[in-house]
Amino acid sequence: MSQLHTFTFNAFGEQTYLLDHGDGEATVFDPGMSHSAERESFKKRCKELGVVPVQCLLTHAHLDHVLGCGWLFDEWGLQPRLHPTDEITWEQAPRAAELYSVPMDPLPPRGEDLGPHGSKVLCGAMELEVRCAPGHSAGHVIFVCHAEKWVVGGDVLFQGSVGRTDLPGGDGLTLAKSIEQQLYSLPDMYEVWPGHGPSTTIGSEKSSNPFVNENGGGILQR
Ligand SMILES: [Zn+2]
Ligand SMILES: [Zn+2]
Repeated sequence: MSQLHTFTFNAFGEQTYLLDHGDGEATVFDPGMSHSAERESFKKRCKELGVVPVQCLLTHAHLDHVLGCGWLFDEWGLQPRLHPTDEITWEQAPRAAELYSVPMDPLPPRGEDLGPHGSKVLCGAMELEVRCAPGHSAGHVIFVCHAEKWVVGGDVLFQGSVGRTDLPGGDGLTLAKSIEQQLYSLPDMYEVWPGHGPSTTIGSEKSSNPFVNENGGGILQR
């Protein structure tokens, strides 16, 4: 039995996730822990759960999602895996940190690139499907766990909202298409764990999201 644990980190209120594989190991998604108090709390939770982080996966490489990458590498030797299309976002993260006056550790070497759309990533015995979902950033992916019916969704679909599209690589129509094709194609009961804010379900966003919904009348769909 595996389990997804959530943390809210850094000045941007980013959601970092820790997936307990159930065998003493765990995967970290979008490590945003930005200072020692956040890092200590993360470490403490790992200890309480009895897990060692062995893998780091990124939905995309915006600053708020990579602030803990350097520390994770120093602490556990984890090299984050990213879709190669988001490489430019990764390279620009230190400049974004300067722009926002956010202190940032140097980025570590990246791990093996995530595979193409539809490829699989293993988290212990659990298989996640990688789906490309551009529009917020060019190389954004979501991770779908069909066995447990959840999605680590990054900054694509939020409860009652969607990711911003005004950053480099962003595009509104592309984002709407990603949500329609990659998220709304999933069964209604699937739970979406986003990069910001509380979790939601495919069904509730499909019916009432003001930006992209199943009726096609959302702000981004017109
Ligand atoms: Zn983002
Ligand atoms: Zn974000």
